Amino acid sequence: MSSTSPIIVWLRYDLRLADNPALHAACKLGAVVPVFVLASDEEDLPPGGASNWWLHQSLKSLGRQCNALGSPLIIRQGESIGELQQVAKETGATAIYWNRSFNPKIASRDAAMVENLRTSGFKTQSFRANLLLDPRAIETQQGRPYTVFTPFWKACLKQLNPPPPLPIPTSIIRPDKQPDTLRLHELHLEHQVDWTVGMRRAWAPGTSGANLNLKLFTRYALQEYDHQRDLPGVVGTSRLSPHLHFGEISPQQVWHAIAESGAAEWKHSQFITELGWREFAQHLLHHFPHTINEPLRAPFNRFPWQKNAGHLQAWQKGCTGYPLVDAGMRELWASGWMHNRMRMVAGSFLVKHLRIDWREGANWFWDTLVDADLASNTLGWQWISGCGADAAPYFRIFNPVIQGEKFDPHGDYVRRWVPELKKLPPKWIHKPWTAPSIVLQDSRVRLGENYPMPIVDHKEARNAALDALKSIKQPA
Ligand SMILES: Cc1cc2nc3c(=O)[nH]c(=O)nc-3n(C[C@H](O)[C@H](O)[C@H](O)COP(=O)(O)OP(=O)(O)OC[C@H]3O[C@@H](n4cnc5c(N)ncnc54)[C@H](O)[C@@H]3O)c2cc1C
Repeated sequence: MSSTSPIIVWLRYDLRLADNPALHAACKLGAVVPVFVLASDEEDLPPGGASNWWLHQSLKSLGRQCNALGSPLIIRQGESIGELQQVAKETGATAIYWNRSFNPKIASRDAAMVENLRTSGFKTQSFRANLLLDPRAIETQQGRPYTVFTPFWKACLKQLNPPPPLPIPTSIIRPDKQPDTLRLHELHLEHQVDWTVGMRRAWAPGTSGANLNLKLFTRYALQEYDHQRDLPGVVGTSRLSPHLHFGEISPQQVWHAIAESGAAEWKHSQFITELGWREFAQHLLHHFPHTINEPLRAPFNRFPWQKNAGHLQAWQKGCTGYPLVDAGMRELWASGWMHNRMRMVAGSFLVKHLRIDWREGANWFWDTLVDADLASNTLGWQWISGCGADAAPYFRIFNPVIQGEKFDPHGDYVRRWVPELKKLPPKWIHKPWTAPSIVLQDSRVRLGENYPMPIVDHKEARNAALDALKSIKQPA
C-alpha cells in the first residue's frame, strides 16, 4: 500500500475514538477517512425509534470529535459496500478497516464484503473491539457452545486478560481529497414529532456521557452495587447499557476502570459478572441465530399464547393496574430505559399473567429502549419466558405486589412514574385495590377512573399460566 493512500475506517457500533483498534491501527499509517454508513436494512432487525434517536446524537458527538482531530466524519446512506467503494474512489483509499460485529446478518454481510473487496483489490482488516472475548473462542470440552451461564463465564474468566485501553489518537490526518458527505439531519433518524423530551433529560449520548456514567458509577455506586442493583428507585447501576451498545465506551475500558477502582475481588464481583451476561448473550446469538424469532427450547413452539390487543396496549402504556409493572413501562416510554429488575417484572407480567407471546414484548422493547440490543434483548426475553438458555423456570411467576414490597418498599419508584398514586401510603402503594375507601379518597385515587383496577387477577392468571405450561409438556 502506498504511504499516501488514505485508509477508510468504517465506524459501526464503535462510535468512539478511544480504545478503537481499527482507528488506532489506521492512524499509525497515515491519512484516515472515518466513515459511517446508514444501512438499516442490512441489520438483523432495523433499529427502533429510540435507538435511532440515540444514534443521531451519538453521531453528532462523534462528528465534533473527528473534526477536532482533523478528519471530518463522512456520513453516507445506502448499501454499505457500494458506499465504501464510492468513498474509496473519491479519496483514493485502498484499504478499509473496521471493528467486528457478531450479529448474525451483519457478520455474514461482512464476510461477503471481505471477499468482494479483496477481489476488487482492497486491503481489509478487522479487529475485536466491542466484546471482551470473541464469542466463537469459547466452547465446552465437547467443542459445543455453552448454554449455561456459570460454566461459560468461568471459562471466559480463565482466558480473560484484556490489554489496557488504547488512547485517543492525537490527530487524524485528513485525506488530500475530501469525499462527499450527507449532513446528519439528512439521515432522518429523529422523528418529526418530538417525543424525546424524557430521553433528552435522562441521557447524554456520546463518549462524554459514557465516561461520566462510568466515573459516577465507580465513585458512588460500585461499592453498594450488590445491595442496590435490584432497587429501581435508586441509581444503583451503571446505566452504561446504551453507551456499550453503540460502542461509545468499550467493555475493556469498563473492565480496567473497575480493576483500578481498588475494589476487592473485583474480577469476581457481581458487576463484572453482569458484563459476562453481555458476552453470554452474544455467544448465544452467534451459535443460535434462530433465537431472534424462535424459542431455544422447541416445546415452547407449542405454547398457547393469547392474542389480546387490549391487554397488550394496557401493558405498553403502563395501565395494567399493577403499580410496579406500570411504573416500569412508563419509565421505559418516558426515558427509553428500564431498570433490570423492572424488565424482569414487567416482562414476566406480559408472558405469564397475560400469556402474550414474548416476541410482542421483545418488539416493544426493541422500539422503545435506547439500549435495544439484539443479543441482550433476545436473551432477556427468552430468559424471562423460560424458553431460552439457562432461563428462569417458566413456573417461577413473579408476583408484582411482592416484588414491589421487596424492591420498592416505600413506593418511591412507583410514586415517581405513576403520579396518580403519589399520595397513597406505602402499605397500599403496590396494591391500591385493597386500600380502604377512606384511604383512597384521602389519596385522591379513584380506581377505574384515574387509575385502573388490575386487568387480571394474580391468582387466576398464575393458575392459567401453569395450566398452559402443562399443555406443552404433553406429547405434541
Ligand atoms: C426482558 C429483558 C430485556 C433486556 N433487553 C436488553 C437490551 O435490549 N439491551 C441491553 O443492553 N440489556 C438488556 N437487558 C439486560 C439488562 O436489563 C440491561 O443490560 C441493564 O438493565 C442495563 O442497565 P445498566 O447499564 O445500569 O446495567 P448494570 O447493572 O450497570 O450492568 C453493566 C452492564 O452489564 C450488561 N448487562 C447487565 N445485565 C445484563 C443482562 N441481564 N444481559 C445482558 N447484559 C447485561 C449491560 O451491558 C450493562 O450495561 C434486558 C433484560 C431483560 C430481562
